Amino acid sequence: MPTGLTWDSRNYSCAFDAVLIILYNVWKESDAVWRNTTCTYSEYMQYLFNRFEDVNLEKCSLDQVRNNLRIMLNRTNSNIFPFGHHFTDITELSAYIMGYGNCGGSYKLCPVCGNEDSDINVYFDRVTPLMRISSHDQHHNTKLSDTLKITLNHVVREICVPCSLNGTRVKKRLVVRIDHIPSLIMFECCTVHPTPEAEILISTDSGHVRMRLCGLIYTGDSHFNSRVFEQNGSVWKHDGMIDRGECQYEKLIDLLTDMKQFEKNGNKRIIYQVYIKITT
Ligand SMILES: [Zn+2]
Repeated sequence: MPTGLTWDSRNYSCAFDAVLIILYNVWKESDAVWRNTTCTYSEYMQYLFNRFEDVNLEKCSLDQVRNNLRIMLNRTNSNIFPFGHHFTDITELSAYIMGYGNCGGSYKLCPVCGNEDSDINVYFDRVTPLMRISSHDQHHNTKLSDTLKITLNHVVREICVPCSLNGTRVKKRLVVRIDHIPSLIMFECCTVHPTPEAEILISTDSGHVRMRLCGLIYTGDSHFNSRVFEQNGSVWKHDGMIDRGECQYEKLIDLLTDMKQFEKNGNKRIIYQVYIKITT
């Protein structure tokens, strides 16, 4: 059974609990190469990875690691990471832990004259916010990989100036350039809610990269909780407020499992889908 965390009722900790339970479990299942690349994400990730070893050796608990991480982040920015009965912004927490990797993104291009902007318009990174482009995304239940494609490749509301001077109104569209795929990605689902997938394939100029779902973070009623997806297909629920230091076994999944059942957790919706690179 994966180790869990106990919610801190004096210093609300559910944002930390929801993220750390997933990071600890992927850390436990990963090889040295993966750990070495991922621990460079930020000083906080480095700290977590060092201390996860101690948790594994039962020298300390995950709760202690969480509390120390909170102290570090509070010293960095006490407005974003307060103590007491305040809620931590999970998007800030994810950004601080995951850092920025300059992985690439999408540029605006005119399909007629080929004019291309030099600045990235939509970022693809360790934390990638998925976007709702039209009402279509909302009504038709799309999978995560479809939503990622739409986020990175769509027509934008901008007319090409050189073409319009020549009398043609052309809308620009996005062209994606992914430099590299990070070992761990958190897809942020604030405005669009795609169905998670057990595995996804991301295309780059140098080939495809396979990634596996390792966690889902849910939000609703001012609280966060998680599901952990292990390499062997086991799915565990974790809510530090209810389970107090444990995870609850739910079921076993494979590549054919209908993943729609994981879109919600009670009345909570997914805010993050976390995927880990499959190294072969
Ligand atoms: Zn043009």
